[in-house]
This record gives sequence, structure tokens and C-alpha cells, in this order.
Amino acid sequence: MTPDLPRHQGQRQQLVALLRSKGIDNERVLAAMARIPRHAFLESSFEEFAYQDVAFPIAAGQTISQPYTVAVQSSALGLPEGAKILEIGTGSGYQAAVLEELGYKVFTIERQKALFDFSKRLLSELGMRRITQKFGDGYKGLPAFAPFDGILITAAAPELPSELLEQLAPGGVLVVPVGDVESEQRMLRVRRGSDGTWDHEDLGSFRFVPMLKDVATAR
Ligand code: SAH
Repeated sequence: MTPDLPRHQGQRQQLVALLRSKGIDNERVLAAMARIPRHAFLESSFEEFAYQDVAFPIAAGQTISQPYTVAVQSSALGLPEGAKILEIGTGSGYQAAVLEELGYKVFTIERQKALFDFSKRLLSELGMRRITQKFGDGYKGLPAFAPFDGILITAAAPELPSELLEQLAPGGVLVVPVGDVESEQRMLRVRRGSDGTWDHEDLGSFRFVPMLKDVATAR
């Protein structure tokens, strides 16, 4: 693993300042992103660009989200430390690491074996012990560990995934980009009321790789 050097820490401070200038004001999220070494989650050829606010390709034709998007999704959860969170789409593992740094107990699912293996090794090397990783289809969630206080989907869903809504605790929050998976999606925050009501909020336009059914077949 590439060591975390003073140069990287300085670049992270600049990234945090940029995120602030783009409207991110959640101090807990900014502090967590100032600590997680994003360069460790990227292929070495991208290392020098790791703290720019851009998405990059990772294995299996997927992408690590733009830091701004990670900040928006993490802020949207807005849950207290110790909350139980399910992430769909582990990818590089970066978003899961930010969630752990926020003090959440994290469960995360990935359907691409190469990414599951990569992120499992990396998160364990980084000493992230409050993350439980599963290889499988995120559409099914993790009923054995439900209910969750928060569910964060980091892939584009064509519609709200009903099985995941059912795995939310009363008062729980689902953050998901929903819409045309080939172009743009709306970031929705759906809150399950303790009285059985549902509350929807639109947090803006984003672009994600599609959320696909079943595990990917090995190539
Ligand atoms: N959170 C990731 C972003 C990865 S991109 C990061 O921080 O790097 C989205 C990921 O969702 C991809 O790795 C893709 O394989 C995965 N994915 C898509 N559909 C899925 C599903 N049904 N279940 C689990 N993972 C899924």
C-alpha cells in the first residue's frame, strides 16, 4: 500500500477547502475526508490526481465516486455515531472507509468479485475493523443484519429498490441516485417515519454507474 505522506495530507486539506467552497458544510464529513488516504484506493497511475475532485476508473469497468459526491451522500445520512449503515456498491472501498471514520458500523455489498477482493484486502490493511463486507447482490440487501439506520446506494437505481426500503429501521434514511441509469439521476433521501409515513427529498442531479442485478459472472 502507498504510504500516507505529508504531501498527501496537504493535498487532502486543499480538497476539503474545495469541498467547502462547493457548499459542503458538514464538519464531521469534512474531517473524515481529511483523514482517509484516497490515493490508496486508486491505481498507482492516478495517484498524483487522487485529491482532485474527480471520479476515476477502478477495476471491472467501475468508478470511484467524485469526492464531492461522497461528501453529499455522507452528509445526507446525517445519523449519530454508532448508527448501523448498509452501503450498496463497495467498489474501491473509499466510501465505506469514510463511513467508518464517521463512527458508523458499516455493512457493504459488492457484486464484482475483483472489487470485493481488492477492497477487502485494502480496508483490512488500513485497520478498518468496523466494516463487514459481503460479495453478493445489493438489491437483496442483508436481511440477516436488518434493520439499518441508514442505507447508502452508490450506483444508479432505475427506481427505489423495495427490498432495501423494507430493511430500513423506523426513522431510518435511504440515500440513492434514482433515474435514467444511462445518463443522469436525482439524488433522493427517503426517510421512513416511525408512524409508517415516507418522506422524500431531492438533493440534486448526479451520474453513477448502473446498479445491476445478481453478482457479475467471472470473466
Ligand atoms: N462506493 C464506491 C463506488 C463504486 S461505483 C467507492 O467508494 O469506490 C458503484 C459500485 O456498485 C460498483 O463497484 C458496482 O460493481 C457496484 N454495484 C452495482 N450494482 C450492484 C449490486 N446490485 N450489488 C452490489 N454492488 C453493485
